[in-house]
Amino acid sequence: MGRLWVVFPATAVLLGLAAAFVGSHSLLGGVVIAIILGVAAGLFLLRPIRNTSDALTAATEALAAGNYAARAPVGADGELATLSNAFNQMAQQIQVNMAAASEGRNRLTAALDSSVDAVLALDVEGRVLFANLAALTLFERDAPAIARNPIAWLLPDELVIEAVRSSRDSGTQTRIDIERPGRRFFRVVTSSIAAGGEWAVLVVLHDVSDVKRTEQIRRDFVANVSHELRTPLAGIKAVIETLAEGALDDRDAAIDFLSRADSEVDRLIQLVEELLDLSRIESGQMPLSPRLTDVGQLVRDVAERMLPQAERRHIGLDVELPEHLGEAVIDPERVEHALVNLVQNAVKFTPEGGRVVMSAGRRDGELTLQVSDTGIGIDASALPRIFERFYKADLSRAGRAGSGIGLAIVKHAVEAHGGSVGVESEPGAGSTFTITLPISTT
Ligand code: ADP
Repeated sequence: MGRLWVVFPATAVLLGLAAAFVGSHSLLGGVVIAIILGVAAGLFLLRPIRNTSDALTAATEALAAGNYAARAPVGADGELATLSNAFNQMAQQIQVNMAAASEGRNRLTAALDSSVDAVLALDVEGRVLFANLAALTLFERDAPAIARNPIAWLLPDELVIEAVRSSRDSGTQTRIDIERPGRRFFRVVTSSIAAGGEWAVLVVLHDVSDVKRTEQIRRDFVANVSHELRTPLAGIKAVIETLAEGALDDRDAAIDFLSRADSEVDRLIQLVEELLDLSRIESGQMPLSPRLTDVGQLVRDVAERMLPQAERRHIGLDVELPEHLGEAVIDPERVEHALVNLVQNAVKFTPEGGRVVMSAGRRDGELTLQVSDTGIGIDASALPRIFERFYKADLSRAGRAGSGIGLAIVKHAVEAHGGSVGVESEPGAGSTFTITLPISTT
């Protein structure tokens, strides 16, 4: 404003000069000249004020548009300089505050993105304002596709919509369990956000599919083990009753009944042993004891051990080994145990007259051990799960069913060696289980 005080004295001087001119010529001419000169001088002197005010307007507009680095030039003196300085201080403060807010937002986004749970922030209308990475992955959509869409569009579930409404209206936290396509189960927690600005409700989806599946597997397991225990026990009881009712006096019949009771006891012993093995393995009580082992001999030993079982079921059991299989550092007991489990299954799931082949080979620094059968095979849908403990491919095969533990024990043993186990199978044609172990001879 300092320059305004220059404008008036200057105009007064010019008027004086004009009056002098008028003294010598005409009064009107003098006044006109004085006015023209005054306006010209005023415009000239006001130009810096206009420039400064234009610059201030431009800086204010830039700031409003989000350019927090915008500043007004501080060329002028006096009040204009004070105004520009005040504006710049304000802009500086806004820039600092916005940077702090943006850093806070980035930290929050990073924290939410690192969560394995899907998180959605909704406005009071239930529209999505924010979705973290897990949510984008879960709903298979990118952020712009989700933004501003109603939660009902993403999760068309009455329970979820009701939970969101209840959290928004009463501020309570609600927990519900929902099922999504692909048999995936989620615990959904909705909470109201009191100081969340536009964010009114937070929805967190926690994947509980594994917990549900484990619960189901355990329930199935208890049912299966009870069934498995009941069948041989009922058989043994029937044998004892028959013997007590007089069969004991018929020596041949008595021997036959005793042999039946013996196989039932074998079945019980195998089940209990498998359960104990699994329990020991899972509690880390079966550490690996690797030593240099003749692999061919180990395979032959397993075949010899399993031959009586195969013969009882009229199944051929053959061994096919290359000439120089050599030795490898493995834990012979654990590998033998794994092979016995595979051959037991092969015999169990192969109809009479079928064939089981044990083979082995060395390739690309790896030792492979295979058990193939000409049995009933495994359905493709069951293949990815058969190594899970307690899993049984088809419960309707109750007559042949075991505990569903054998393959889990095989997998444990093989993975403890740093190896892997896989299966190829065709229903009705047979299965081939392949154990691959890294070769070490030291
Ligand atoms: P189980 O004690 O039931 O045999 P396993 O863990 O050894 O338990 O096997 C799991 C399931 O895999 C079995 O119930 C069976 O359905 C399937 N399975 C395993 N081996 C074979 C095989 N050689 N042929 C067909 N099905 C098999």
